[in-house]
Order: sequence, then C-alpha cells, then structure tokens
Amino acid sequence: MLRMSTLFLRTLREDPADAEVPSHRLLVRAGYVRRVAPGIYTWLPLGVRVLERVARVVRQEMDRMGGQEVLFPALLPREAYEKSGRWTEYGDNLFRLKDRKGGDYLLGPTHEEMFTTLVKGEYSSYKDLPVVLYQVQTKYRDEARPRAGVLRGREFVMKDSYSFDLDDEGLRVSYAKHRDAYIRTFDRLGMDYRIVAAVSGAMGGSASEEFLAVSPTGEDTFVSCTSCDYAANTEAVQVGAAAAQDPADHPAMQVLDTPDTPTIATLVADLRGKGHDVGPERTLKNVVVKLRHPDGRIEPLVVGVPGDREIDLKRLEANVSPAEVLPFEAADFASTPALVKGYIGPQVLADAKIRFLVDPLVVPGSAWVTGANEPGKHAVNVVSGRDFTPVGTVPAAEVRDGDPCPRCGSGLRIDRGIEIGHIFQLGRKYTDAFSLDVLGREGKPVRVTMGSYGIGVSRAVAAIAEQAHDDKGLVWPRSVSPVDVHVVRVGKFDTEGVAERIATELEERGLEVLLDDRGGSPGVAFKDAELLGVPTILVVGKALADGLVELRDRAAGTSRTLPVEEAVAAVLAEVRG
Ligand code: ATP
Ligand code: MG
Repeated sequence: MLRMSTLFLRTLREDPADAEVPSHRLLVRAGYVRRVAPGIYTWLPLGVRVLERVARVVRQEMDRMGGQEVLFPALLPREAYEKSGRWTEYGDNLFRLKDRKGGDYLLGPTHEEMFTTLVKGEYSSYKDLPVVLYQVQTKYRDEARPRAGVLRGREFVMKDSYSFDLDDEGLRVSYAKHRDAYIRTFDRLGMDYRIVAAVSGAMGGSASEEFLAVSPTGEDTFVSCTSCDYAANTEAVQVGAAAAQDPADHPAMQVLDTPDTPTIATLVADLRGKGHDVGPERTLKNVVVKLRHPDGRIEPLVVGVPGDREIDLKRLEANVSPAEVLPFEAADFASTPALVKGYIGPQVLADAKIRFLVDPLVVPGSAWVTGANEPGKHAVNVVSGRDFTPVGTVPAAEVRDGDPCPRCGSGLRIDRGIEIGHIFQLGRKYTDAFSLDVLGREGKPVRVTMGSYGIGVSRAVAAIAEQAHDDKGLVWPRSVSPVDVHVVRVGKFDTEGVAERIATELEERGLEVLLDDRGGSPGVAFKDAELLGVPTILVVGKALADGLVELRDRAAGTSRTLPVEEAVAAVLAEVRG
C-alpha cells in the first residue's frame, strides 16, 4: 500500500514556468516527473507506476499478436549504423560518443540495424519465418526542439518491433497484425486517436500509417474527409490537383513594372489596374530554402506554391527527408545574385543551376504571375513547361480546411494530433544492407522483407494526460492510473482507523491502494486527490458519524454516500467494472 505520509511526493500549487501544455504542467505539479535537462526527465514513484502500466498493456498486446520480447543495449557500436548509412543520415539527431580507446559509439535512436543483424545471426531457413521481435527500451535522439516535458524527449521509452517475412504477402499479414494490436492497445489505454496515412519518406517502403492522439496541442496536423474514410497526416496529403493544361493556350510572357507591391494583395491590385485580372491563386510564390543533405552537402532549393497559400515547411521537410530544411539567410542572398529577394521567378533558375520544385497544385502548362528576377518587376503569363521547367514536384503548400478529398472530392477537415504510434512496411532497405537471406522452399536464397513498428510509451503517458484532465488536475483512465483507488482518511472524524481497515481489505482483494493517512486539512487532501487523478476516491470523513463513507468518481465529478460496510464491495465493483 502506498501511504501519503511516506510517499516520495511533493505536489505543487504553482505551474512550472517552462510548461506550455496541460500534460507537462500537471505531470510536474502532481509529482509524476521532474526535469533534469531539456528533454530529459526523472520519473517519480507515481510516474513510474503509470509508465509501467502503459508498458504492460503494450507488452500484453504485442505478446498476444505473437511478438517475442528481447532487450538490446542502448549503447551501440558504430559499425552497423555505418553499414546502413544512418551513422551520417541521422544527422544531428544522433547522440555519438567515443569509448576510452577512441572507438565510435552511439545511443540508439531506433534499432533496425541491430534486429536485422540479430536475425541474420540466428536464422537461416524459410521455416524460421515469419518472426516478430520487440523490445520496450530507452531511446536517445538529440531533438532540435525537445518540448512539452516527456511528450518530446531526448531520452524516451519506445516499444519498437520488427517483422521478418519471406515475401510481400507475409509482410502485409505482419503489418495487419500490428495494426490490430495497436488498435487494441490504444483502445485499452482509453485514448481518442485516429489512424492516418503517413509519408514513407526516404526510408523507401510502401504502406505506412501513424496513430495520432487527437489533441489541440499536438505537433502533427492531419486531415480527415467529411464524407469518406480517408485520413492522412497533412505531410502525406496529395491534394487533388487540376489536370495539366496546354502551354500553347496562354499568351506570351510579359514583364511589367510593379513598384511598391511588397505583398501578394498589393501586387494583385496593381496588376488589376494594368488590365491583368488575376487572383492571388494565380500568382506563384517562390520560397527559397537551404537543404542540408545527410553527407553534409548544402544546396539552395526554390519551391513554388500558389500565392494564396503559405508554404508548410514541416510538410516540405517530411517530403525531402532525410535532408533537413534550413532558412536561406541574408548572407546566402548576398552570395547568390541570381536570387533577387522578393522578386524570385523560376525563369532563371535552370541557368543558375538552382533546383526548382513545385507543389503539385502548379500543374504542367499552367500560367502564373511571378517575380521577374529584377527589383520592382513581375512577369505575367509565365507558363510551366514553356517559360520554366520544374525539376519535379514536392507537396509543400499548406493544406486547408475544406480542400478536396483526394479520394472522393468532398471537403477535408483539419485537426491536430500527437503521434503515439507508427507502423511501416519497410521492405528490404535493411535486409539489403546486411544481406539477410534465408534458404527458400526451392533451396535458393531469399531476401527477407521487414516491417518496423513503434509506440511512444513515455509519450503515451503525456498524450493520455493531454486528453484526460480538467482544471483541477489529472483524470486517469482506469487502465493506467497509478493505483486503483485513493482512500482519503479525514483524521478528526476517523479516530478508529476505519480508512486503514478498508484500505487493507481492498489490498487483500487485489487492488493497488493509495491511502492518504496524513490526517491534515481535508481541503489539502481533496485538492491533492483531484490533482493526482486516481479515478476512484473513497473518503472516510464526517459522514462516518452516521456510519457512512463517500465514494467519488473523479471523471464524472459525482459522489455518493454508502454504508461503511458496503465500501469494499462498492470500490471493487467500480474498479472491476
Ligand atoms: P516525431 O515525428 O514525433 O518526431 P518520429 O516519426 O520521429 O516521431 P518514429 O521514429 O516513428 O517517430 O518513432 C516511433 C514512436 O516513438 C513515435 O510514433 C512516437 O510515439 C515516439 N517518439 C518519437 N520521437 C520521440 C521523442 N522525441 N520523445 C518521445 N517519444 C518519441
Ligand atoms: Mg514517425
């Protein structure tokens, strides 16, 4: 039994200064976690219990779907990551370190290399497959923006699993089993989540979906169709673009003086005065950024989006990964005379050897108003495929509420979410890098195909808190609450140790119990109980004079009184449902 009188816990009345989101504020105030450094947290006794409960649900569902648990070290030698290319590809996010002999090591950000090597060492025949291995383990990533407490840590707990199959059909089955296991897991964790299509990115591979906990504080945005079941991370949306046009349908390009037109709106008004009636959606906004490639190479990149939309840098970055997107600064403009700030047009980019990509909304053959690469001048009737030729397309324009669904054409709605899980048909990227073959049925070697699947276990604690709280504190779903019941003894009324007796009996009946035995002010005890967020609270106080106790439901905010002899049965009924 946990006793408040001795529990290592100090609740705080004030919000921590650095906390922007509710889960961070409440997990600190209620004494679940404490900050050590940016993105690095200590779990206190109640926090450990919630983390363990989440991990237990994850393990049970992984075991149920046939996964087998292993445990890798976090400290790993360079070689395997060198072989896969990720020693460099992971960029600044990878924690690298040296041992006393000068050997290179890293702190594992995810373990595809290690699992592939492990399976290669142990297995050699088609009869051994399929196999699913998983671990619940501490991961390290030197995130650029650690955020919101344990929501985005630099050290965090992940369940990562890997499936190994003989062929694509096998991979599809392993993927489907993971998907079902994740649905069961997040249902049991009491979360409100959506499964959305994700960008597979440079990892290659085909199907990839994310599980997003719906939350206004989430860093991801996703769309869902208002009439069909299409749902996707905005990074992965391909907004239905219009059909290609014939470049010959447009008049010749013409350069115009457009002084004092610093914004799209002023430009549109100026052109209308000159007899060119084009809306902002027919202007081409050319945004210049720098790409940093995994090998360190830096390259300017110009991206064209319709002028009535912002560029979505996160969407762009997801689609050029593993390259990173950096701002193009004043010094960069100074050293690149071809790019005239404010008047960039794609007409000159090919000659300047600067790559130009367009959002798919900029269809081949379409005509645009855009910069004329000279201060104070714009060009009209600049036609894609005639006056400039993009080297390719990249989804980079902001996706907006009401945009057409790529599947059915109805309106999309946009919401925010927290990525709590990711399932991914990885394919043969790692089995190729490590030559993982098994002997097939016909006696010939077969290249194994892989899936990789993650759940953010520590992040899930924060995501649950983000969804389950009110202005008084946390409101844990039963499955992850640090204890099953919080018994509050109000000392001046309970002089005979009734609360103690009930708590002991509940524990004997198999419940995990927190007893507030401090005997101080009832107001403080009630405030703490609300802050800690155990869903069932039993108060042994004033009503005891009439032989009654009070059973509170934290989530509903309701309470009822019942005879003291019925307390144990009532709590058991609440907890066991
Ligand atoms: P994100 O887009 O949020 O950075 P990711 O795509 O890098 O996540 P994966 O590599 O797919 O994440 O990792 C699997 C899971 O691990 C994620 O779905 C997420 O729940 C969790 N996770 C990833 N990064 C962190 C982090 N910095 N802190 C806590 N959990 C994380
Ligand atoms: Mg992901």
